Amino acid sequence: MTAAPPPTDTHCPYCSLQCGMRLGLLERPAPGAPAVAVEERPGFPVNRGALCGKGDSAAEVLADAARLHAPLVRDRRTGALREASWTEALDRAAGGLVRAAGRYGRDAVGVFGGGGLTNEKAYLLGKFARVALRTANIDYNGRFCMSSAAAAQRRAFGLDRGLPFPLADVARTGCLILVGGNPADTMPPALRYLREQRESGGHLIVVDPRRTRTADLADLHLRPAPGTDLALALGLLHLVIAEGHVDEAFVAERTTGYERARAAAMAHWPERVEGITGVPVAHMRRAVELFCGASSGMVLTARGGEQHSKGVDTVGAWIDLCLATGRAGRPYSGYGCLTGQGNGQGGREHGQKADQLPGYRSIDDPAARAHVAGVWGVDPDALPGPGRSAYELLDTAGTDDGIRALLLMGSNPVVSAPHATHVTERLRALDHLVVCDVVLSETARLADVVLPSAQWAEEEGTMTNLEGRVILRRAALTRPEGVRTDLEILHGLAERLGVTKGFPIAAEEVFAELRRASAGGQADYSGITYRRIAAEDGVFWPCPDPGEGRPAHPGTPRLFADRFATDDGRARFAAVSHRPAAEEPDPRYPLRLTTGRVLAQYQSGAQTRRTPALNRAAPGPFVELHPRLADRLGVADGDLLTVTSRRGHTVAPARVTAGIRPDTVFMPFHWPGAGSANNLTNPALDPVSRMPEFKACAVRVEKAPVE
Ligand code: SF4
Repeated sequence: MTAAPPPTDTHCPYCSLQCGMRLGLLERPAPGAPAVAVEERPGFPVNRGALCGKGDSAAEVLADAARLHAPLVRDRRTGALREASWTEALDRAAGGLVRAAGRYGRDAVGVFGGGGLTNEKAYLLGKFARVALRTANIDYNGRFCMSSAAAAQRRAFGLDRGLPFPLADVARTGCLILVGGNPADTMPPALRYLREQRESGGHLIVVDPRRTRTADLADLHLRPAPGTDLALALGLLHLVIAEGHVDEAFVAERTTGYERARAAAMAHWPERVEGITGVPVAHMRRAVELFCGASSGMVLTARGGEQHSKGVDTVGAWIDLCLATGRAGRPYSGYGCLTGQGNGQGGREHGQKADQLPGYRSIDDPAARAHVAGVWGVDPDALPGPGRSAYELLDTAGTDDGIRALLLMGSNPVVSAPHATHVTERLRALDHLVVCDVVLSETARLADVVLPSAQWAEEEGTMTNLEGRVILRRAALTRPEGVRTDLEILHGLAERLGVTKGFPIAAEEVFAELRRASAGGQADYSGITYRRIAAEDGVFWPCPDPGEGRPAHPGTPRLFADRFATDDGRARFAAVSHRPAAEEPDPRYPLRLTTGRVLAQYQSGAQTRRTPALNRAAPGPFVELHPRLADRLGVADGDLLTVTSRRGHTVAPARVTAGIRPDTVFMPFHWPGAGSANNLTNPALDPVSRMPEFKACAVRVEKAPVE
């Protein structure tokens, strides 16, 4: 009798917590069922064995009946997608890209990546765009996720890493202000840290227009109108200053720009801020009392505070609050961002962002270009410059001024992009669309060529979680016949574009090159190896020294203890002022819409909508509205509502709850079609981060007519 193989230590395919899990091979899986079972991995420090329902059921997507097992190409005669060989599909995919470049110029070819791709894929996709296609136009869906927090952190600290400290530090902070985040639904195992923090006497303040399950845990729940968090942060800073809580020594020694920030905050007196946000002055005073009364403090933002046309300034104002009170670069204190997607952090470090090269280097920096070009073996002058941001790529697709062909990997913008109906039209207008995906997603249905990819448990690669901890996903299964890894797909496409070297198919080989490309950059991975990750349960970047012949660099769990990453080592105040959302309520559209996620679904739902248990728990969209608003509209729980914005309408059942402000409605965004929240959302962009304003637009709500 042979012993069963040991389970494989790996990580969840979903969110930025990247919970550790084990996959055990099943000896006799039922027909159509997954060949592996998810098991606890108690030793991994971030989640210590705990998983949410999404992680628990993650094996099911591996055996999804809708999985693609052969490439698809659009039949020129019938116009329908039909199965094709890999040779035909790759020839068609590459041929269309080459044709568009030849006809309209290289920048007419776009590449769109994803925040769920491994570091190796993100790196090779960026290299593919800049070396094989030589286009400037590459960006990714992480632009829709945390780009405002990233830009604000770079402005303030000179460096952006989601959390500049391990998540475990949250449990030890004296007061935590959580802005626009709902980990109870988005990353439940992280709640442990919030509970431990409360149990050791810490305070929790939640800022959210909705009473979420996370807000239920809070000492204080501040409920600003969507789009007014910036004013709230300034109101709190005003009180900090007026009540003498500024840490003068910290401000003098470790920051610059305080006087301008002080002037900006003093123009946002509490009564004015109450008028803008709806948060009572007494609640603001209580928040300042809790935050400044604690020996340490943190502010963490998530999408609710970031996805605004003023997202960078909003995060900047929260960072200013931390700086004024001396809560940065000190134990259990500081600002951090709870990133969303599985590799939201690593995805933006290795070159799939329009403005960056691997190692978090600016694409405009001549020294950075020379270094990366050296690793790639190309002339630095041949490297394209910065390209269009994610929404701008999609918005101009198929136009004279925009891209005419697009390679899309790891993203489903038909569901996840703002103003989704417009984005769908633009994708349809492309001359050529190539999509790499596991199933025929809503976006893949529009493609000329669909290339079926391997899934998370069928290939290896590294991810970087919200703490900047680089972890390793391992293959527990052989990928099915007919499916290729994304690295193999890029290799095949590069070959057809005449680039026969530099696109390896082994993830560890790609990682070795990524390490060289990142060396000396801010996100320096050069000291990180697969072996070290496995031995150390992840390694925090920057980690600049592999330790050949001497002790290895230990990695950097905590940043900024001695200096910030700015030229002078000091953090910079943002000094910003409130401004309204791009679209404020008016008589035609009198309510504010905000959007978000629910516990049992993930992002565009491409995987979780196919998981029966998750689908049963969260089968479709809904509109959350306050009982007073429901009364005014004559609406009962479950009635179908039509929600209309300037961009379109959507129909979904009412969910009446006192947990939301009476002037606001909420919709989750995981579903496509007639119930899509993103039919409504506003693509107004932040001028710095180019983040769309998902979290605030003006709508009207009516009872849908009975058919
Ligand atoms: Fe997966 Fe995130 Fe759930 Fe952890 S919290 S199991 S990483 S979805």
